[in-house]
Amino acid sequence: MVSKEMYTFEDSEVVELVELRTAAVTYTASLANEAGLVNFSNLVGNFTLAAETAFKAGRIPKTPENQQLLQNLRDLLGTLQIYRYQGDRELSPRAAQIRDSIRRVTFGDVISLRPEATASVCRAYIEHNMQQLPQPVKLYYMGPMFRRERPQKGRYRQFYQIGAEVLGGSDAPAIDAEVIEMVMTFFDRLELQGVQLEINSIGCRDCRPKYVELLRAELLKVKDKLGPDSQRRIETNPLRVLDSKLESEQTIIATLPRIADHLCEECAAHYAAVKHQLEARGVIYRENWRLVRGLDYYMRTTFEITAQGLGSQNAVCGGGRYDGLVELLGGPPTKGIGFAIGEDRLILSLQESGKAPVQQGRDVYIAWMGERAHATAIRAAKDLRKAGFSVELPPMEQKFGKALGQADKLGAKYALILGDNEVSEGLWTLKTLADGSQLKLPEPALIEHLRKSKAVSS
Ligand code: AMP
Repeated sequence: MVSKEMYTFEDSEVVELVELRTAAVTYTASLANEAGLVNFSNLVGNFTLAAETAFKAGRIPKTPENQQLLQNLRDLLGTLQIYRYQGDRELSPRAAQIRDSIRRVTFGDVISLRPEATASVCRAYIEHNMQQLPQPVKLYYMGPMFRRERPQKGRYRQFYQIGAEVLGGSDAPAIDAEVIEMVMTFFDRLELQGVQLEINSIGCRDCRPKYVELLRAELLKVKDKLGPDSQRRIETNPLRVLDSKLESEQTIIATLPRIADHLCEECAAHYAAVKHQLEARGVIYRENWRLVRGLDYYMRTTFEITAQGLGSQNAVCGGGRYDGLVELLGGPPTKGIGFAIGEDRLILSLQESGKAPVQQGRDVYIAWMGERAHATAIRAAKDLRKAGFSVELPPMEQKFGKALGQADKLGAKYALILGDNEVSEGLWTLKTLADGSQLKLPEPALIEHLRKSKAVSS
């Protein structure tokens, strides 16, 4: 999973050690004078003592490495004064050694926030012996994912995915097609606009490495014409060059060898059958030979679905086959295919095309004037909220004109107008903002009226 931008950190309960470590390793004052050296020795001493105590209590990992580092620190600490008298030249390397040892003491497990959930689902399959259930097993998930990417519209560092995986059984092309059909049907029901499905096959462990080598060799021939990112990727992951959006590289990429021409016989047959199965289901697709997935365990079918209104980050769903992954994670050889929908982008696209409410407006805005009306307004807000309405109650008196303007801006359906007259008559005014019509009703009848109209609209 390392090729995704992960949030990785040391999960530690020893906050005080973290602070002591920072103080010791960021101490920059000169060690050439007595005060500087004493301060530094104290900081290192405090850290070492606290770390030794935590080590003995098992609050930091009792590893041989930690033990050794703490021993080193003790020894070095004891000799700091000696180095002091031998001069700066001797002292600086010791101080660097001390800082290095302090940095390397581990305080807890290194953990990562999940960048995606396919691997977690595969682990669940293994852990719960799901290979003993009737195959294939069909699972889904919804939840937050975390990637340290550059945020922009539709690309966040915490975002939500809805995904499904089919694990075990065969790798029949009908499974690939059915999985894709399911997402397309879901998008269709949501009336997502401008939906486009692109598919590709990226081969298997037999044929892909040969293609990658061919691609690398061809890329090396045109290396000078590529940008720095692609130049680097020739070595690290040549397939990713195909992802490049750089204008100047497009004509070069168009001339590169295509994986479809280099699939082994089984992969070519599988790909042809997937396309046939999609056609049998009436699923419209476009082939995109440049569609690849960054991670090694993906194979054969890959797909991506884009939608309108999202700008450059327009993929709402990505998926593919990953037959080797369960085995890679320590389970039995298992077929697998799945997808992840980007929930944030899905909603964004629906909002852009007016298929989802952009912002929830209020049901009722209470426009009140005068102290007596304020008391009534507070009570009305309480009653209406209790009855399930969302209510905006302005904290300060406003002129009615301004209040109604505010109600309109907030997208309120109704304005409840409470002034001196309404309070003394016991008749409240309800204005429907969409058409400007007004009603005067006693309190219970008004709430009943709102309740009925809410039932009709929902
Ligand atoms: P992936 O797991 O990279 O195949 O992504 C699957 C889907 O998740 C994409 O098609 C996007 O809709 C969504 N997605 C991926 N990364 C982000 C992100 N940083 N912010 C919002 N959505 C994302």
